[in-house]
Amino acid sequence: TEEKFDAIVIGAGMAGNAAAYTMASRGLKVLQLERGEYPGSKNVQGAIMYSNMLEKIIPDFRDDAPLERHLIEQRFWMMDDTSHIGMQYRSDDFNESRHNRYTVIRAQFDKWFSRKVREAGATVLCETTVTELARDSDGKVIGVLTDRTGDMILADVVVLAEGVNGLLGTRAGLRETPKPQNVALAVKEMHFLPEEVIDQRFGLKANEGCVIEAAGTISRSMAGLAFLYTNKESISIGIGCLVSDFAATMESPYELLESFKNHPSIRTLIAGSEVKEYAAHLIPEGGYRAIPQLFGNGWVVVGDAAQLNNAVHREGSNLAMTSGRLAGEAIFLVRKGGRPMTKENLALYKSMLDKSFVIKDLRKYKDMPALLHTNSRNFFTTYPQLLSQAAQNFMRVDSTPKLDKERATTAAFIKARSRWGLVGDAVRLAFAWR
Ligand code: FAD
Repeated sequence: TEEKFDAIVIGAGMAGNAAAYTMASRGLKVLQLERGEYPGSKNVQGAIMYSNMLEKIIPDFRDDAPLERHLIEQRFWMMDDTSHIGMQYRSDDFNESRHNRYTVIRAQFDKWFSRKVREAGATVLCETTVTELARDSDGKVIGVLTDRTGDMILADVVVLAEGVNGLLGTRAGLRETPKPQNVALAVKEMHFLPEEVIDQRFGLKANEGCVIEAAGTISRSMAGLAFLYTNKESISIGIGCLVSDFAATMESPYELLESFKNHPSIRTLIAGSEVKEYAAHLIPEGGYRAIPQLFGNGWVVVGDAAQLNNAVHREGSNLAMTSGRLAGEAIFLVRKGGRPMTKENLALYKSMLDKSFVIKDLRKYKDMPALLHTNSRNFFTTYPQLLSQAAQNFMRVDSTPKLDKERATTAAFIKARSRWGLVGDAVRLAFAWR
């Protein structure tokens, strides 16, 4: 039987839920299809969720969303094998009534978000994998085929929110397979500890949370980042590096995570915990230059499937929610104007996205992925080691005159990178940061 929807959304992650909610709450007839047993079952990790972008979709989300801790502190660490040097920002200002960032456990959060989508009037079908996009003789996307029945389900527009792999989009020729240097493979574990123990170890109280992000020798010269997020009664800890680097070095992600967990600066924070979950997932990190075509006849692509991820600031879910919302709003406006879901009309989604922080931020860092990819040894091993040695030299009080210490530190930097190398690295970094 053929039933026609205004829109079909593929995937019930952050982007898909944002799109489905936006359209359903504006009265569109929406079908959302998710291959997992329930929304979030494929997204087991804990993560940081950004309030501002969710407020724009569900303003009163704090009433019943499953939130873990609100973040009041962030630590950035440069690590070598035995030390870390870092920057830390903690502020009581983050104890405002409308907290800015929360840790969430995606399995629970996505379930909640999906309930909101259903309450808004969308039909949500889980354990249903979309196997193919259906197209008419002109190539316009007109619906989907699933593994549930052999039937085609028709819609005016299909929102691809299928996540980073984007197999459907690739298979349909709407985008290329992401290149290995443009995706990171991240592994992550959940370590359970009593709430009071987490409070004590991180100096927290009453649902306050702390995040640690660390780069350095832990990624063994690969471009990568390790992280630790405090949830209420668990700690999410993980590390991710570019797939191309894993392929070149044959390093094992699991061993990297083991060494991060055993680093003297981390070991004591998770001591005595019980590990309950292990997950591996890809993260799109190619930035602005890796963004594929975002709309076409009868389709738009949102979230990770559109490679919308800010690796420099480690933001993904907020870009996913915003792109999903904007796609939903654009589709609603096109329909309200009585216009067909053609490429020309759906270009509205792209122009709305261009005006938002999503594209502006990604454009700002457009040269960063290439810089980190081609200079990973310098940025992820040489400099962290040099900085750690410099700090240690500075802090170790012995009979060496301070001037000699400063000279030794300068000499170590020049020996490792040469004067021009240092200037070059600084200039390249400054340009990529602009
Ligand atoms: P997803 O959340 O991946 O959702 C895609 C959904 O589509 C899935 O549920 C999948 O099952 C479904 N699907 C796929 N194919 C089909 C199909 N054919 N048919 C039906 N359903 C299908 N971002 C942050 O903002 N903060 C963080 O702290 C953070 N930490 C992260 C840590 C790790 C380890 C990883 C891997 C990512 C992290 N991210 C973080 C990034 C963030 O998770 C993503 O940017 C975000 O989940 C993207 O949402 P999405 O809806 O586009 O994709």
